[in-house]
Amino acid sequence: MNNTVLTCHQLCRYYPVRDSLFGRHKTIKAVDGVSFDLSAGRTLAVVGESGCGKSTLARLITMIEPPTTGRFSLGGADGVKSMRRQVQLVFQDAYGSLNPRKKVGSILEEPLVINTRMHRAERRDEAITMLTKVGLRPEHYSRYPHMFSGGQRQRIAVARALMLRPKIVVADEPVSALDISIQAQILNLLMALQDEFDLAYLFISHDLSVVERICDEVMVMYLGRAVEQGAKQIVFQRPAHPYTQALLTSTPFVDPGRRAQRVLLRGEPPSPMNVPHGCAFHQRCPIAEERCHRERPELRDVAGRLVACHLV
Ligand code: SF4
Repeated sequence: MNNTVLTCHQLCRYYPVRDSLFGRHKTIKAVDGVSFDLSAGRTLAVVGESGCGKSTLARLITMIEPPTTGRFSLGGADGVKSMRRQVQLVFQDAYGSLNPRKKVGSILEEPLVINTRMHRAERRDEAITMLTKVGLRPEHYSRYPHMFSGGQRQRIAVARALMLRPKIVVADEPVSALDISIQAQILNLLMALQDEFDLAYLFISHDLSVVERICDEVMVMYLGRAVEQGAKQIVFQRPAHPYTQALLTSTPFVDPGRRAQRVLLRGEPPSPMNVPHGCAFHQRCPIAEERCHRERPELRDVAGRLVACHLV
């Protein structure tokens, strides 16, 4: 049975900008030709440094903004309203995303008020059920967001995202603002809820040690494009792209064997306004050669994953 819930084909999001007040018009290619499938019950992690386009991708999938070109489709959804219900977003900053003047019950019920014809009592039941599913208690229904810890607030944000029983949750750095021990609790919660509701996660993160715990597949992005994409076991154990290798070796994993072959990442990513010709990574790549300055590598299948590098 095909349980693909999201298919993206060559998604692009471009922004016109000027490099100074009277300067030339330029185009920032925040997302530039990204394709992937996502299945029910699976997690695709999108990783990369800040500015690589991962948060823009989250905004496209959650329909906060439209793609410039390319398309995506959600299995079984017809019409924008139905599509919007099927994809929900969890942000990094739970406190900023919860209205401080509203009680938790009303925050959770708001999506039901807008999208369903449920009566007040039904909404309340749904909200209390969801509170318990995310590890909170029924009495929390009548409290305000400031009365909770950071981890509890993220549980409330997750509960709100699930109120409409979406198929897909886009989680944009959902644990990066939390302490390590709380991060583990929220990741465990997300995995338990994934099993219970057969959710598909698009998990956006810069932290590979977090991603390794939760994802099935991974897409590594650099300046708007995927540079390596495939099953977690393959990409984490045998990273092929020099950028993936550098990210992995700069991540403090528990397994010390990982630190053996260290590939240092030089400098910062170039500005998205001035993406280098050829391979966008060539200025930082330890094995770049002349061809890399001229020709942009396209994604191709190498040993069971996709890689965009001339020399792999
Ligand atoms: Fe490095 Fe060249 Fe591969 Fe780009 S194409 S990652 S510059 S070796």
